[in-house]
Amino acid sequence: MMAADAGATVLETNDSDPMKPDKAKTKFDVIIIGAGPSGYTAGIYCSRAGYDTLILSGILPGGQLVNTTEVENYPGFENGIMGPDLMIDMRKQSQRMGTTIIDDEAVDVDFRRSPFKVLTSSEEYEGRAVIIATGANPRKMGLAGEQTFAGKGVSYCATCDGPFFRNQEIVVVGGGDSAIEEATFLTKFGTTVHIIHRRDELRASKVMQERAFNNEKIKIHWDSAVTDIKGDQKMQQVIIKNLKTNEESTINAGGLFVAIGHEPNTKLFKGQIDLDDEGYVVLKNKTHTNIEGVFAAGDVHDRSYRQAITAAGYGCMAAIDVDKYLTESADKKE
Ligand code: NAP
Repeated sequence: MMAADAGATVLETNDSDPMKPDKAKTKFDVIIIGAGPSGYTAGIYCSRAGYDTLILSGILPGGQLVNTTEVENYPGFENGIMGPDLMIDMRKQSQRMGTTIIDDEAVDVDFRRSPFKVLTSSEEYEGRAVIIATGANPRKMGLAGEQTFAGKGVSYCATCDGPFFRNQEIVVVGGGDSAIEEATFLTKFGTTVHIIHRRDELRASKVMQERAFNNEKIKIHWDSAVTDIKGDQKMQQVIIKNLKTNEESTINAGGLFVAIGHEPNTKLFKGQIDLDDEGYVVLKNKTHTNIEGVFAAGDVHDRSYRQAITAAGYGCMAAIDVDKYLTESADKKE
């Protein structure tokens, strides 16, 4: 897939959905917050298991895949599939199983007691179980060209987009494990992989650093920052500046991979759900959070894999854990 930037594509909304949701209904067995691969997969599994399931999709449903072009690494599509098309199919599949999807944003939650409450600006929903599937967004550099060339050279996922830049120069920004892992992976495709790091030492673990230092295709530009991205239809040049000498130079690169961390979408849950110091949901056991009956799936807790297929896998796991939880809760009541 060629990953583009946030907010580029809008999935069809309920107005064009074949099955319009009953907006007056507010009580559900399961509420899933978020509509990326993990949310939709959880919806498919929960609904298929017979649970009355609501997905609150947010204002821009579909997650990060809505902002990609071709997805080549999601199994089942011999010739690849466009990211937005994959998400529309997942949405329709979930609806066909009976999931109610409301394109509104959760603005508050109350997980103090079951049934749990999830509030939008206009409605209060209740669920006996909740799956948090709000995902994460790659951190941006904040340059104008980053937006302009998103999906046309600028990417946030080497695994997804590396193969598009065979025999070209490639730039990677960042000095953490992700940047080094991505740069090392990208040496399979690029002629030279330039790492642009703002300091004179890497944050990445020693073993990863050694990997980069020993790879003759990797060139590290210390104390440097990307200041501009240029091109025509596609990105062609990355302008970098040495922050100590102010000297500028140009790299004629086809691909620019930004690997400066991710920001999980968890502000809503602060104070109720255990989060680590970077805001990722901390799982207690499997997909269980610190609150019994509240589960998490996908990039909102997973900082390692971050693939559509792994997010979908986590969505399936969370739904199976919800089923077990609701069955055991019902058994206790009898
Ligand atoms: P990270 O460890 O937070 O590193 C982010 C890097 O980006 C840092 O080098 C940082 O520079 C730089 N950076 C941050 N904001 C920037 C900006 N605005 N402009 C330029 N550079 C900026 O993030 P990560 O590499 O994504 O890793 C996240 C976590 O996942 C880490 O705990 C990591 O160990 C783990 N991880 C592990 C593996 C593995 O073990 N295989 C692979 C990937 C990730 P400074 O160093 O100057 O702060």
